[in-house]
Amino acid sequence: MPTTFNRRDFLKTSAALAALSAVPALGTACNSASKRAFAPIGKGGKITMKFRPYENELAHTFTISGYSRDVTKTIQIELSYEGVTGYGEAALPPYMIGQNLETATAFLNKVDLSRFDDPFMTDDILDYVDSIEEGMSCPKCGIDIALHDLIGRLSGLPLWRMWGYNPANTPCTSFTIGMDTKEMIIQKTLEAAPYKILKAKLGSTEENDKMIISTIREVTDKPIVIDANQGWKDKYYALDMINWLYEKGVKMIEQPMPKTVYDDMAWVTENSPLPTYGDESCQRLSDVTKLHGVFNGINIKLIKCTGLREANKMITTARALGMNVMIGCTTETSCACSAAAQISPKVDFADIDGNLLITNDCFTGMKIVDGKITLNDLPGIGVTKL
Ligand code: MG
Repeated sequence: MPTTFNRRDFLKTSAALAALSAVPALGTACNSASKRAFAPIGKGGKITMKFRPYENELAHTFTISGYSRDVTKTIQIELSYEGVTGYGEAALPPYMIGQNLETATAFLNKVDLSRFDDPFMTDDILDYVDSIEEGMSCPKCGIDIALHDLIGRLSGLPLWRMWGYNPANTPCTSFTIGMDTKEMIIQKTLEAAPYKILKAKLGSTEENDKMIISTIREVTDKPIVIDANQGWKDKYYALDMINWLYEKGVKMIEQPMPKTVYDDMAWVTENSPLPTYGDESCQRLSDVTKLHGVFNGINIKLIKCTGLREANKMITTARALGMNVMIGCTTETSCACSAAAQISPKVDFADIDGNLLITNDCFTGMKIVDGKITLNDLPGIGVTKL
């Protein structure tokens, strides 16, 4: 088929040009991928999927408004095509209602990617995956990340480069300090010395919330961003807290009120001296327009929105509505964090510190250098499996 041949020819040429000129240090996987003699895409190659459970062990017990945990269960996913493998991760934090190791595994067992012979048909493939079952955004996200990693490796290009995103525009990441005792807040704030922005988890009692911020302020005057995780139930109380936080050098507030309290939240946003961001209120692309006028911005997380394909669409939609964008994560390995980092040049705030909060990361990938998200030149999501 001439069409198939032309695309393959283009991909090989792109990879070769990138290796020669624009990309200074493509990794081994990239070079080996670009030199391979692939069967023509769409001519008999099959996408195969493997997955296995993995537990991300947390450096500190992680407590936010509502619950605590010491591990985050995940499923590590691999998609292979013609001997090249892309990596993905489906983290399963307990607040993802209806999604756990059992249900996510059952979902993945329903997925048959052998019906596709061209991994670059990402829209067809991910539409199919999304259509299998309602919800299940975490395992869908794991497949999306692995598929994007795979096509990046097949092309020999990092995703940020394929999408035209400037790696110089990545933001600094915030570093999260969960709820804790005064002594532990001091310790965690000191441990956060390499990071330029701190993210404090609030949303319990007024006394405890104010203790956390006052304690951080005893240690440092760094900018703080706040995530109240729906913890404040009354709009007048929420606004009073935001005004108090504003005077403490806080820069923004994420999800102060319950996720469906739209009218009260719109009132808080209208009166707030700080920009507001919706996290639990904002799951997928279809939520973005609903939140226009409710929050100033949205918090995109790959496990909420099924992955990179939809995250890019959410950024475009939010920008068209004049809204701000942040990208967050959960306690994930460098696999999912490096995937989120690929789109970070397009956001206002980033909270991609999940890999820094676990002790058994099974990948290396994007790094935080002097507080800033730093992308590498490796193809796909830019990770190496350890
Ligand atoms: Mg949040």
